[in-house]
Amino acid sequence: MRTIFFLFAVLTATFLPAQSVKKIHRKAVLVDTHNDVLSSGVLDGIDISKRVKEGHSDLDRWKEGGVDVQFFSVWTGDKPRNKEGFFQDAKQEIDSLNILVLKNPFRMTLARNYQEVKKGLRQNKFVALIGVEGGHMIENDLGKLEELYKMDMRYLTLTWNNSTSWATSAMDETLHADSLKQKGLTEFGKQVVRKMNELGIIVDLSHTGEQTFYDALAVTSKPVLLSHSSVWSICPVFRNVKDDQIKALAKNGGVICINFYSGFISKEYDQRSTYLNGSGKRIIQDSLFSILHDSVAMKTQWQQYYDAEMNKVRPSIGQLVDHIDHIATLVGDDYVGIGSDYDGVGSLPVGLEDVTTYPKITEELFRRGYSKKSINKILGGNVLRVMKANFR
Ligand SMILES: [Zn+2]
Repeated sequence: MRTIFFLFAVLTATFLPAQSVKKIHRKAVLVDTHNDVLSSGVLDGIDISKRVKEGHSDLDRWKEGGVDVQFFSVWTGDKPRNKEGFFQDAKQEIDSLNILVLKNPFRMTLARNYQEVKKGLRQNKFVALIGVEGGHMIENDLGKLEELYKMDMRYLTLTWNNSTSWATSAMDETLHADSLKQKGLTEFGKQVVRKMNELGIIVDLSHTGEQTFYDALAVTSKPVLLSHSSVWSICPVFRNVKDDQIKALAKNGGVICINFYSGFISKEYDQRSTYLNGSGKRIIQDSLFSILHDSVAMKTQWQQYYDAEMNKVRPSIGQLVDHIDHIATLVGDDYVGIGSDYDGVGSLPVGLEDVTTYPKITEELFRRGYSKKSINKILGGNVLRVMKANFR
């Protein structure tokens, strides 16, 4: 009897937490606010209805990772893909998502309001929403903003790395500050924010400069989102947000969704990459390889060396959860979420290689003592609150 009791105690200690953490993950509504698979795979003809080897995401793998709601990012860099321009690029990408939804009516649905999100969840479908990344996509035209709303855009990131004539980006405000004529939102930029509030489009402040961030917070009447950004005080890069910004965001009732990119999570990764792409490149090439610079052989060897070196400094899951911890400690667990940037980044923390791996984040939160209630907020509850407050 004592042996049985002992065995029971061991089994309880070993398996119950694992079982309950799996259950917490399965039952939680997991919302990821940023994924780039449309521009990095679907537009090239990759059918993510079935399991694919390419990239980080497909419908099967999202299911395996327990993802319930996914914002699909509509993205073009600072040069349009189509000769007609950025707005046409956005339409083309939105079409590619609509085709995916039409092909998979029993597995997924596109949500346009909060009720449709809830309905999709009740039907156990994968809920897709559209987020457009970069104010340049509206081509300085409030009419096009409204048209994108009618095409079901539910967040707009005010800038990507490139500024618009009405909002400055984090990249320009930090790296090209001297060449900027003005910083922050212009009067038209403020009109864009007000129009977004009125239409029911979430204001996304990832990628925006600090001045744009504070200007937008002063204008918006609704809680904002940072769809894919991490914490500056842990990893001080221009794309991450400072503690004062996090405090201001909490006052607004918004959410910052943690970006998984290794270079935004780990300072060491960022520093190594800066060195190898900068002053270190020639020094190492001279010392390691006795072949011609700029030859094909050199480029291949360098790439292999670079990949191996960067692989050594990829962060751990714990280092990613440190970013969540930091925000929860600074302002509380109501203001942090998940915005992976899967299929938009070249390096991820060890163990978070694709969209099947989210349960490991839940495990780490659980291991650190986060309650079920708190985990539910972080995985999706907080973003659902912001969606509800913004959508009509
Ligand atoms: Zn981005």
